[in-house]
Amino acid sequence: MMNTPLTIPPMLERAERYFPNKQVISRTLAKTHRYTYAEIGKRTRALASVLTELGLKRGERVGTVAWNHHRHLEAYFAAPGMGAVLHMINMRLSPDHLVYVINHAEDKILLIDEDLLPVIESVQEQLTTVHTYIIMTDNESVPESSLAPLFSYEQLLDKGDRGFSFLTGLDENEPAAMCYTSATTGKPKGVLYSHRGIALHSLVQGMVDTTAISENDVCMPVVPMFHVNAWGLPYSATFYGATQVLPGPNFTPQLLAELIESEKVTFTGGVPTIWLGLLQVLNKGNYDASSLRAVICGGSAAPKSIIEAFEKKLGVPFFHAYGMTETSPLVSYSRLKSHQQEWEEEDRYTVRAKQGMAVPLIDIKGVNENGEIAWDGNEMGELLIRGPWIADSYHQDERSIDTFRDGWLHTGDVVTIDEEGSIKIVDRTKDLIKSGGEWISSVDLENAIMGHEAVLEAAVVAVPHEKWQERPIACVVLKEDKKATKEDILEYLAPQFAKWWLPDEIVFMEQLPRTSVGKFLKRALREQVVKTIG
Ligand code: ADP
Repeated sequence: MMNTPLTIPPMLERAERYFPNKQVISRTLAKTHRYTYAEIGKRTRALASVLTELGLKRGERVGTVAWNHHRHLEAYFAAPGMGAVLHMINMRLSPDHLVYVINHAEDKILLIDEDLLPVIESVQEQLTTVHTYIIMTDNESVPESSLAPLFSYEQLLDKGDRGFSFLTGLDENEPAAMCYTSATTGKPKGVLYSHRGIALHSLVQGMVDTTAISENDVCMPVVPMFHVNAWGLPYSATFYGATQVLPGPNFTPQLLAELIESEKVTFTGGVPTIWLGLLQVLNKGNYDASSLRAVICGGSAAPKSIIEAFEKKLGVPFFHAYGMTETSPLVSYSRLKSHQQEWEEEDRYTVRAKQGMAVPLIDIKGVNENGEIAWDGNEMGELLIRGPWIADSYHQDERSIDTFRDGWLHTGDVVTIDEEGSIKIVDRTKDLIKSGGEWISSVDLENAIMGHEAVLEAAVVAVPHEKWQERPIACVVLKEDKKATKEDILEYLAPQFAKWWLPDEIVFMEQLPRTSVGKFLKRALREQVVKTIG
């Protein structure tokens, strides 16, 4: 067989050649843009030529500080297309961490959204490697700024070479992109994604037994493009020639509902909190969401109640997926096997609420102190993963040896695996609650509480306990117009759990603290709860 390299440029070239008239619809601060893949291709080539002119060398990093829009998409392809590495930067990191990731990645050029300029201005003195700043804006002029030199993205593109040839001779194992984990403790850890990893990940996202992204789709990644390649969706959607809808800055659930209706979005992906918000809006019945064939939910567990609410009330198919920054991210996808489709409804949703089977080419196992766990849906162990789009180390980081051992990524997620191979994330190792020598899953309790009709969101944390070591406390946000007491919620949970699993306390809150990518921030919550209940 020929050994043609699996690299990123041919993915865009395919869209240019076969789907030149399909559109990328992109919302920026000023307006909504509509570009065809033919135009996106030319603009991407122009950007690649500009980056080359600016002296960016093979393997060097160019950072993006940007929302989901067409310019960010162009950078996703231009940087690897001219041999460099796209470093997507999470602008919500603390200033310390922001400085750390930019310096650690040794970013040479930063592409920055106009509204995010102050974020970089506030730390610019501490940046040691950046030599050029580029502002991504619809405005004609470059604003006053302390960043220098600061160029306009559009003005540079006007001067760029729209016929630029992407680098030939790229090795498929060269890095193409880079993302840091949004660490809740310690410094963020950098993960490099290879051309090959991204190409294979995109291929698998097109399989009918996984996300099945195809030319038929109108794909709207809500998951940020500064986090794990927006789950790879901008790459695979371009590869397959799907229409893309990029929702831009400051979007609300309302705006997402509007885009779904007006652009007839078929496929979208994001974390559970996004879908909880969208559900509230769609439940009012003012928007038509019937175009949706798949809402993908990952990043934290999707409670069974959300899946049921989308599917039974709204008729919108809702799928649970699992992955992490270190895994590009798709590891597993929850869909029913043909024989499971015959099961009772309750059992079907129980399977769908698990994180699903590993996708093709990904290998998993669970391990505890007794060795490999049985695939019986009961025994718990840490999930280990390997495969062609799983990182094998962190970028220049001594902590690599803790996570990458014996050819496996050690995830820190505690799982069971059932007879059908479906993974269930019981908890993160650090969030499991140890009560009287037994383990309680915070995730199971949260998901059950979120099934109560008055509850909008819930997070369960461990608090220290003299006798039992730790006990669960539930933090609950009620829906706007609903009421429930501690007793109501405990009564609702009682039939579903052993008595000792039930939370000792229910703390009602206005909102739950979140991480920079929208997950519940359990560490802050635990501190808050310990203070509140003394
Ligand atoms: P961070 O590690 O900074 O939170 P990641 O996006 O890499 O950012 O998070 C990966 C983690 O998120 C996984 O290790 C797992 O604990 C959790 N996670 C991801 N998807 C799911 C899911 N579908 N269900 C439960 N937990 C999930």
